[in-house]
Formats: sequence, structure tokens, C-alpha cells
Amino acid sequence: MKNAAQPKLLSTRQERELASLRDLSARVGSDPLLVQASNGNTSIKLDGILWIKASGKWLAHAMQEEMFVPQELAEVKESIRTGADIALRYAQKDELRPSIETAMHALLQHRVVIHVHSINAIAWAIRVDGPDQLSVRLAGLHWQWIPYAASGIPLAQEIAKTVATAPETDVLILGNHGLVVCGQDSHTAEKLLREVERRLAIVPRRFPKPDATVLALIARLSKWHFPDVDSLHALGTDAVSRQILKGGVLYPCQAIFLGQTVPLFPPAVVVSKFTERLDGRDGTPPFVAVDRSGVMLNEKMTNAERATLIGLVQVTLRTDEFARLRYLTRTEVTDALSKGAHGCKEENADSPADVRELDEKRTASADCLFAGAGPT
Ligand SMILES: [Zn+2]
Repeated sequence: MKNAAQPKLLSTRQERELASLRDLSARVGSDPLLVQASNGNTSIKLDGILWIKASGKWLAHAMQEEMFVPQELAEVKESIRTGADIALRYAQKDELRPSIETAMHALLQHRVVIHVHSINAIAWAIRVDGPDQLSVRLAGLHWQWIPYAASGIPLAQEIAKTVATAPETDVLILGNHGLVVCGQDSHTAEKLLREVERRLAIVPRRFPKPDATVLALIARLSKWHFPDVDSLHALGTDAVSRQILKGGVLYPCQAIFLGQTVPLFPPAVVVSKFTERLDGRDGTPPFVAVDRSGVMLNEKMTNAERATLIGLVQVTLRTDEFARLRYLTRTEVTDALSKGAHGCKEENADSPADVRELDEKRTASADCLFAGAGPT
């Protein structure tokens, strides 16, 4: 490992702190309101070494598999200064690659950093009036709003500018992206995460039940099936959610895993659409939504796509119908997709079955940090 840190034997204290981080990571990673699939990442700084989650790994599996990569903190900080992409070093290697957000973790002075795609935080982070809304809800905390920046060095540099004038910051709301909280140890950071979540919590909107009439036709015509999570139907039955998603892409994971436009059809045309081209062949979307009817899933949908879709529904159900939203620009979407498309192979996907079934175009970057970012 030429470029990775080579730590000496860990002391008992260091082992204990890493164990706490694994424990925290598994807990946070198992909460679909905080982490979906391989997004989200955690880290700890131990005596000049940054231990950071590897790209593509699922935090939920932190107790079962090794996923923390040691990096020389000084080297990472130098790469932020020069703008060099840390992940590039790992382009041709089989070993674990540090998260695309390594630079962000390194520049924050706190020892433990937690980055999650909190559903509640995202529901605020996509609003034009997000900073104003949060100034009330997060009053008294050391928080900052970071306007959208692409994952990796651009985001790290944006954060660096902000914390330079507010070094006490330990909560960051990332516009069109998610949440970062920090602490001096895992316990403190997790406690702060829970407090922020409590303050940001939004009750999801109730939505009409699905109408199985049209959906049953789809199930008969092709290799599609009914979702096992009822809330997914809201994308079809909830008029506000439909309207929100017609506006564009809310955050990069949405585009990377689910495409740039939501496949939303009126009931009258859906059968002909399916007969024509949505018959389960490659290139068909992982799901379709039918106006006022509900949602059907492609049998080829991966676990990562499914987790992302569940998250997306929960965001739209928490978004006020009258809120002005800030969608990603065309350039931002293209940038996120190109990083994904040229990113890592899916060697770190969640199961061999997923690897077989991955639609390379959609999921080349399973680490929505957008972890694929990086090497070609
Ligand atoms: Zn992220």
C-alpha cells in the first residue's frame, strides 16, 4: 500500500476507539432514515492517522467486515491544498479505497466525523429557504449551511472556507446532499447526531392507498412486481410527491441510482408503454410510477436502487408542497453522473447477486458519495 498509511500496532486505546466507531457506524448505517445503501461515511483521527470508511462499503455491515482505511492525515490535507484527488491513487488497486469524502473528513478538526444522507436533513437541504428554516430549528448549535458542491475536493474546499471563520462548527447541512456532525469521540458525535435529527424531524405526509387495477396489468404483462414497502406507492398516489419529482433531480444519489427523470406515466398509456419498451430488458428503469395508481418495481432492481428509492419517497413525503425547491442544475447532474459512470467497479456491492444484476450505467458508483467519483 504505497500511499496508504502504515500504522504501527494499535494501542489498546486506539483499538477501543475504532471499535466504538464500528459500533456507531453499524447502528447509524442500519437506519434507513440516515443511510441508504453504501452512502454515508464515518471516520476517526487517531494520532495523525485518519481512519475512514472505504468507498462502496455499507456502514450497516461495519461489525461484520473491515471497512476502515488508514490515511496519513498530513497527506490528505496536502491533497486538499493542491486539489489532487485522493481516490485516484487507488485507481488500479484491489485494496479498499478511501471514501470520496476523505478530504472533508480530514479538514474537520474534530476527531470523529459522521456524514449521513439524513432524510430529514435532505428535506430541508433541498429548500431555497433552507438556511432560514434551520436557523430556528438549529438555534444554539454550532451549525453552518454549505451550498451544494460536488463530492470530493470541491465540497471539502467549500467546507474549508466556512469553518475557517467558524472553527467551532460541529454540524454542517450540505445543500442538496445531507448532514455532517462531529465530536471528540463516537459517543459525543452520535449524541449530537440524535439531537440534530430530533430538531430536524418532519412528519411525513399521508398519501392515498395504491389502486391495484392498473398495477395488476403491469404485473401480468412483464417482469415487474409489487413493492414490498407500501410507502413506495406514494410516488404514484401522492400528487405533491409527483409534482416535486417532475421538477428535476433533488440530489446526486437520485440521478446516479434512479436516473435523471422519474418514469411517471398516466394510467391510460402505461400498458402500451410496457408493451413497447418497458418489458424488463436492459435499459429499463428500476421502477415505474403510475399516476394515482402506485409503483411497480423492475425485477432487476438492485438493493442499492431500492434503498435509494425508499429514501427518495421519504424525502418527498417530508417536503412541503408550497416550499420553493433548489434542484440540481444540468451541469451538476452531468458531473455527478460522469463521476459515477467512470467510477469504481462494483466489487464492493452488497451481494454476489447484486454484482451480477447491476446495471452498470446506473450503479457504477455504489458509494453515493458518489464514490464512484474518481478514477476512470
Ligand atoms: Zn454524501
